[in-house]
Amino acid sequence: MPETIACGLCGREHKPVFLGSTDQGDGCAAEVAEGRLFGHYGSAVADMTVLDFKGDVPADGTLVCDTCITEMLADGRLAEADGDRATQSDEALQSSLKEV
Ligand SMILES: [Zn+2]
Repeated sequence: MPETIACGLCGREHKPVFLGSTDQGDGCAAEVAEGRLFGHYGSAVADMTVLDFKGDVPADGTLVCDTCITEMLADGRLAEADGDRATQSDEALQSSLKEV
């Protein structure tokens, strides 16, 4: 069976970062959730970052490759999350980590 992970926007296929991984490709590991894009380990450009869509938002669960992220950052369709929501979630995360 083909063990590749396809970008939900451009359709390019990528090798999985982990054997059997279905949602983290090498260079294709950012996922849309709640209207934002969350970068994961396999993404070189968005690992550990949250990006906001400035225009059309793909459906939740859409995987987006680094090539698409780079293009959308360049033309303004994506921007690094800033402002209240990102700050609040960062602080909530930090405090929850301290409590553990
Ligand atoms: Zn793509």
